[in-house]
Amino acid sequence: MDSAHLPGHGRFAPSPTSALHLGNLRTALVAWLLARRSGRGFVVRVEDLDQVRVAAAGDIADQQLRDLEALGLDWDGPVVRQSARLEIYAEMARRLPSYPCFCTRREIAAASRAPDGNPRSGEGDWLPYPGTCRGLSRSRRAELAGRRPPALRLAAPVHHWTVHDLARGTQSGRVDDVVLRRNDGTWAYNLAVVVDDGLQGVDQVVRARDLWPSAPRQAMIADLLGLPAPGYAHTGLVTGPGGKRLAKARGAAGMAELAAGGLSAARVRAVLCRSLGLPEVDRLTDLLAGDPGIDAALRPPRGAAADSAEPGPLEAGPLAGPRGWWSDVALDAPAEGTSGQPAGSTQEAGSANRMSTT
Ligand code: GLU
Repeated sequence: MDSAHLPGHGRFAPSPTSALHLGNLRTALVAWLLARRSGRGFVVRVEDLDQVRVAAAGDIADQQLRDLEALGLDWDGPVVRQSARLEIYAEMARRLPSYPCFCTRREIAAASRAPDGNPRSGEGDWLPYPGTCRGLSRSRRAELAGRRPPALRLAAPVHHWTVHDLARGTQSGRVDDVVLRRNDGTWAYNLAVVVDDGLQGVDQVVRARDLWPSAPRQAMIADLLGLPAPGYAHTGLVTGPGGKRLAKARGAAGMAELAAGGLSAARVRAVLCRSLGLPEVDRLTDLLAGDPGIDAALRPPRGAAADSAEPGPLEAGPLAGPRGWWSDVALDAPAEGTSGQPAGSTQEAGSANRMSTT
């Protein structure tokens, strides 16, 4: 059989900058399920390029892997760590059209805002780089290099790129001269993620929907490197008590804290399965049997946008309609033996889906 037609790999790629919270674990479970149920391999990659943030979090990569195992996930081959692949990123960056950029964050923000103070991109807070350093003369570059080390930017050949998401359909998003290497020498996430997905044979990228706006930039870089663009599947966000999004920055509880609060790994598994409309199984491998009900729960609705031949503009907001891995969900996870909200009791029109975990 022609191996080019075999399915590739799915993946989960956590940054070891904080413990995996319920939202991360839910995304990992979806990534594993979509990969394994489609006959793909599944790889785990530790995205530890930002050594300052990784060190500040206290070397938690191994704990993250143990948490994935405790949930019941397995993966193929050794775990890849980005910090061990710096030469590969350097080699791949050399293949891309690029230029040194001396701008500070403040200069970019000032140049990217319209006179009314709003970002010119029209895509939330994201400020596309306005190209200030792209046309600098050789002598000006030499002069500026004496003042501060430059970042390295891609010289993007286009302004938009079209990408496909399993739930969102085909959408076209703005792309810019994305940073390839930061001015402290750190290889940028947008380069590393594309290189690794390409070299690891990842053809299905499952991650939370806050990263959907970066998909066009990443697919463009893949194309410039001659790597196939993966298909995407962006999961909904999980909110906690009070409807606040679970976020690393807000110290959302990881497995250890959940366990300390009485929420065992088995309970977390049940909570996540229920939030995905899946049966609460003892072993996750029970979800890999050919049960058509599971396929139905994992299949996103095919709306007009998803079926349209013309790509629409990139929409990063929550998806309305039937619930599934693509929808936002509120998980107020009480411990065993405590009383939580009855199922569905607090769901409000227009709010994230709320599911009791009792
Ligand atoms: N490492 C990223 C994170 O933990 C995810 C990158 C990706 O899935 O593309 O937020």
